[in-house]
Amino acid sequence: MTSSFKQCYDFIIIGGGSAGCVLADKLSASGQHQVCLIEAGPKDSSPLIHVPLGVVELMKSRRLNWLYNSGPEASQNDREIFNPRGKTLGGSSSVNAMLYIRGQKEDYDHWRDLGNEGWGYDDVLPYFKATQHQERGADDYHGVDGPLNVAESRSKLPIFDNFIQSAINAGFPANNDFNGEQQEGIGYFQVTQKDGKRCSAAKAFLTPNLSRKNLTVITDALVEKIILQDKKAVGIRFKRKQKIVELGANKEVILSAGAFNSPQLLMLSGVGPQAELDKHNITLEHQLEGVGQNLQEHVDALVVKEYTDTDIIAYRPKALAKLAPSAFKFFTEQSGVLTSAVAEAGGFIKTSDEAETPDLQLHFIPAAMDDHGRNLKMLFRYGVAIHACLLRPKSRGSVTLYGSAPHLNPNITLNMLSHPDDQTIMIKAIKRAREIFAQPPVANKVTNEIFPGEGCQSDEDILEFLKNKASTIYHPVGTCKMGQDELSVVDSELKVHGIDSLRVVDASIMPTVVSGNTNAPTIMIAAKIADNILATHSN
Ligand SMILES: Cc1cc2nc3c(=O)[nH]c(=O)nc-3n(C[C@H](O)[C@H](O)[C@H](O)COP(=O)(O)OP(=O)(O)OC[C@H]3O[C@@H](n4cnc5c(N)ncnc54)[C@H](O)[C@@H]3O)c2cc1C
Repeated sequence: MTSSFKQCYDFIIIGGGSAGCVLADKLSASGQHQVCLIEAGPKDSSPLIHVPLGVVELMKSRRLNWLYNSGPEASQNDREIFNPRGKTLGGSSSVNAMLYIRGQKEDYDHWRDLGNEGWGYDDVLPYFKATQHQERGADDYHGVDGPLNVAESRSKLPIFDNFIQSAINAGFPANNDFNGEQQEGIGYFQVTQKDGKRCSAAKAFLTPNLSRKNLTVITDALVEKIILQDKKAVGIRFKRKQKIVELGANKEVILSAGAFNSPQLLMLSGVGPQAELDKHNITLEHQLEGVGQNLQEHVDALVVKEYTDTDIIAYRPKALAKLAPSAFKFFTEQSGVLTSAVAEAGGFIKTSDEAETPDLQLHFIPAAMDDHGRNLKMLFRYGVAIHACLLRPKSRGSVTLYGSAPHLNPNITLNMLSHPDDQTIMIKAIKRAREIFAQPPVANKVTNEIFPGEGCQSDEDILEFLKNKASTIYHPVGTCKMGQDELSVVDSELKVHGIDSLRVVDASIMPTVVSGNTNAPTIMIAAKIADNILATHSN
């Protein structure tokens, strides 16, 4: 079947992101299989990736970030919303904020209870443990033998201790390990860093293995199509330096292009909702109405206050003078402000007594943050901020196509805040963030509220503020969801329904978004399915 291709591999992985790097490592480890990983972006050689504070600049990088915009969003007063995604080896794990969070036990038990056998918390915990090296040492929840280094944050900006104390004074419990027995509470996040530098999925799983003879990595190559014959994936077509190349897959094609690009590529390959494919004159190979549906994202809003001290990040002479020695420490002690993931402390809280588990995540920011750090004017002000994001949104969006040309962006509609329950919780979220700001020690140093603003007090006004200002916290999932219902795209082995030799393995398969950041869960998903793929092809 694949003999018409000039070049074949056993496994072709599309996308060298969080999932793709794990798969490349695990599938090539035995030396028995020929593995090819194809990434649209360049190699991960930019220092902006490896120096953690580079995250601020990566938000604007045309070379390393897809810089998508969704919308205009009807549910958000017709605004477009910024959706950054990594475009380099490591994918979004090379541009993310490095927080190591798994979500709640109940998230995975919910996946299992939806009918996805093998995805309960007890099933996935071994993969979280096996993929990490926890610098604190091993315990019931943490492992020390994996490639992904999990470390304490090292910037030691004093404002974070103050934030934590204010939150405790506001009545929220302290927590030293959000990935342990209890997620609830306030404290420092652990980060995917090693010696103060970013430990992306590429750095952890790919770079150490690049010399394997059976692993080929091709960068700057945009996959345009999965080649299907009689409902079987037999190869892929990509474009590199204006040349079109086709490769055959002897065993499987694995799609790991992320929650926006995986459904896009399925549709470009003729797998998806019939009406959407008809609209763009794409020949239907297999009808799957769920492709691109069920998009979920953590809606997020910022409460920003002016701040009277200078021990924060601001483009102001006094603050910069204080930060300079700390920045130098990066080169001498691998610590200081350059190791900062910006959001180093925060936590998980309940917005009301009715919530059985935390329904809100907080990220504390030592700067006057606005528009994902892209509003430079704000950074010239002394300010601090609290991100508040809804952990289990009920709103659902979609990914469709702008056209059949592969270089076009996917058409993203987040629909965040379209569900009234999401609006209710986010109104409470603003109030909880304000309660923290009202407590010492931070209360002693904050003055004017920049956002939402002192005049914004009633629920109606807060909702209007949210519609005008809320945004994402970069966790899109669900667009190729795992399950058995009519909108599911893959089964519990992540095989695409109705197509042979094709799996989707990335954040898009989550049936519901986990209650926390999504990098570690995506790495867990890839590690678990790699074992399944290897078992399928052992002979
Ligand atoms: C700014 C930002 C901050 C974040 N902060 C955190 C955090 O602190 N902690 C956390 O846990 N999570 C965080 N996340 C989320 C987390 O990083 C992602 O959920 C996770 O990396 C998703 O992994 P993935 O494998 O699904 O996709 P990705 O890692 O995005 O990988 C997809 C890869 O496929 C490539 N690709 C796409 N289309 C094609 C194509 N047609 N051909 C070839 N290659 C293609 C892309 O270039 C990319 O490299 C953040 C994300 C962002 C963007």
